[in-house]
Amino acid sequence: MTLTDTTEVARSSAENMHYMPAQLTIPYTLTPGQATGIFIAELVNKRLLGSRHGDEIIVPAQDFSGSTGEPASGFVEVAPVGEVQAFTTNAKGTLGLVLIDGTTTPFLHKLVGFEPGSLEIGTRVAAIWSESPTGNSVLDLAGFGPIGEAGTFEPKSDPEGLAEPIEQIDYTMTLDFKHAYGAYYGTLFDGVETGRRIRGSKCSKCRRVLLPPRAVCDSCFAPATEWADVADTGTIQASSVVHIEFLGQRKQPPYVYAEIVLDGASTRLIHIVGDVDAERAKTAAAPGARVRAVWSDQHTGSLGDIEHFELIEE
Ligand SMILES: [Zn+2]
Repeated sequence: MTLTDTTEVARSSAENMHYMPAQLTIPYTLTPGQATGIFIAELVNKRLLGSRHGDEIIVPAQDFSGSTGEPASGFVEVAPVGEVQAFTTNAKGTLGLVLIDGTTTPFLHKLVGFEPGSLEIGTRVAAIWSESPTGNSVLDLAGFGPIGEAGTFEPKSDPEGLAEPIEQIDYTMTLDFKHAYGAYYGTLFDGVETGRRIRGSKCSKCRRVLLPPRAVCDSCFAPATEWADVADTGTIQASSVVHIEFLGQRKQPPYVYAEIVLDGASTRLIHIVGDVDAERAKTAAAPGARVRAVWSDQHTGSLGDIEHFELIEE
């Protein structure tokens, strides 16, 4: 079968097979700094804290002015009310720039509790405090809502009894995306899912069979123009016992990772060798050892459809 033919076949069933939903999660630690650390720590006390920099008063409190670079000379407890300067709405809600009374720099936060169409530039808003504050999140200030009956509030310079600054905040950044397989991986995964069929692409010049399949030979750079079926048995070329835990692992260490050349293929596929303990693997999963794919009960259309490779005696 020529590559073109199979590509057409793959495209006709492309809806499911040519991408997979994927997610990247990046856990990290945010260090807010001294002034913002105190600002966040004080939200649980329902106090809104700004920092003074010459004529500027900035909320949330900062160690340095973003516009002049001037260090903070002290804190000011400001009124928990302000005015909307700008806002934007999407399916998840409304974000607004709120200029807190007596401050000079608007504060980006959620605007909540407004009827559609009731929000305008200049709308007066008041702080809404979280009902279940955590003590270490800017969301202890849940947002700003309609002002209701706000009493008068005189800003307090250099308020006393401030909380210790929050030093670290744990965050996770999550990115959802679709990973497009393209025609080559897509065809491989179509075959793996529906027929437990493993296909590489064959180089038009050196005739090596590339697995996973790709468009261009990585040895002679000629186009790979045909498909070639390969067996689900092969030979280990290199192996390693993984003892270290890291993000994204499918298995709990220790486990054996191997570079395997499947019978009929010319390139190495990396996969797990299962059912062998780490000590025995040093000799049993050495280069030259023969392995066979153990297929999963799941049909996911990925190399995860191979549960692992098992050692075979020949
Ligand atoms: Zn080649």
